[in-house]
Amino acid sequence: MRLSRYFLPVLKETPSEAQIVSHRYMLRAGMIKQASAGIYSWLPLGYKVLRNIEAIVHEEQQRAGHIPMLMPTLQSADLWRESGRYDDYGEEMLRISDRHGRDMLYGPTNEELITDIFRSHVASYKQLPLTLYHIQWKFRDEIRPRFGVMRGREFLMKDGYNFDLTQEDALHAYNRHLVSYLRSYERMGLQAIPMRADGGPIGGDYTHEFLVLAETGESEVFYDSAITDLSFGDRAIDYDDVAQCQAVLEEFTSRYARTDETHDAALFDAVPEERRRVARGIEVGQIFYFGTKYSEAMGATVQTPDGQAVPVHMGSHGIGVSRLLGAIIEASHDDKGIIWPEGVTPFHCGIVNLKSGDAAADEACEALYASLTALGLEPLYDDTSERAGGKFATMDLIGLPWRITVGPRGLKNGVVELTSRRTGESEEMPPEAAIARIGEIYGKLSAVA
Ligand code: ATP
Ligand code: MG
Repeated sequence: MRLSRYFLPVLKETPSEAQIVSHRYMLRAGMIKQASAGIYSWLPLGYKVLRNIEAIVHEEQQRAGHIPMLMPTLQSADLWRESGRYDDYGEEMLRISDRHGRDMLYGPTNEELITDIFRSHVASYKQLPLTLYHIQWKFRDEIRPRFGVMRGREFLMKDGYNFDLTQEDALHAYNRHLVSYLRSYERMGLQAIPMRADGGPIGGDYTHEFLVLAETGESEVFYDSAITDLSFGDRAIDYDDVAQCQAVLEEFTSRYARTDETHDAALFDAVPEERRRVARGIEVGQIFYFGTKYSEAMGATVQTPDGQAVPVHMGSHGIGVSRLLGAIIEASHDDKGIIWPEGVTPFHCGIVNLKSGDAAADEACEALYASLTALGLEPLYDDTSERAGGKFATMDLIGLPWRITVGPRGLKNGVVELTSRRTGESEEMPPEAAIARIGEIYGKLSAVA
């Protein structure tokens, strides 16, 4: 993309309404624009990152054997009356009536819809196990929408639902989700720690929230610092292997890690004092096994091998796709702007032409642009006539992990400059070497993925 032809409405001033850094940078970098309280338009740069995050979620869900689909945002109230949640859900549900006076709602989540789909089409254990998911906009009329996309009213969520014959199978589905979430967050450059969450009606161990540590997080968290040494990395996993998935769950949940909702001071005190941490975190996902709660209420049963009809065991599993942009920025920025992890960056690198209009500089930039594009990469080429300082400031603000700087002086010596956004370190090298380096960085990344 050439910057002169792009739509990147960066702001010089810090918007006064933004209280936390991710919200400030998303507004300043021209990623989002508030449409009304807690509701945002996604401008091109923000939309690109949102799509990248979605793509990682899709890939990892499908790798785990979960099947994508799409359910609508508007739902009929009737299904919610069947489950009993139409009255229970309260003020957060946006209720609408259509021209015929029928009660509708903008879905805050989808357990009812998916259970209805299931009961209409699945009757036998032979069709199990089954996990369906979608990535769709949700609406929750939050009392205090704030921090930009972090706590919106309209927000994008991946929500998946598993259907299994037995509790044992459903717990395997739970573990599969845990593993796929660990992989997804790591590919986004994040460490998200599974923490024991509020058990709800079933209680016990069957719900975990994933938290990214950040000072601005809304949850207070208590954990054993040993957990931050864990990473899933690029190890192989067979999602059908029950013992393997269970072992990952045990590895990642055996250390103390809880939010204030489930915090147990006595257990926390058993952690060696030097490893006890009290901090704040951002919830970027939650997994849940809830047994037959919806299947019983809504009559979603399957035939067992010996011909009995039993309610199916279910769980639901969510990732806060739009919230993740805020979480990534909270975890990865400096005082100049965002620092995108390579896995989600909107452009793979920037090309800064120090002297647009200079024949040699223009030509070298065009050649770099063409070569990088031919490698399947997407550079953002600042071909505008702005002064160098302004170009650098924009690149730093929007946070592309790599920048190639091209100027007449360097070109006389046959070199351009490659700069890492994260370390700020620059290195001079021939253009071909810069291309090869960037190709290698992103090639490695897709090898891991
Ligand atoms: P919270 O406790 O933050 O209100 P929740 O526990 O009610 O969230 P879930 O039902 O678990 O949310 O939804 C799955 C994921 O969707 C959450 O982990 C979070 O990342 C994201 N999410 C929930 N509410 C919002 C919101 N208002 N804005 C943006 N993302 C949200
Ligand atoms: Mg939650």
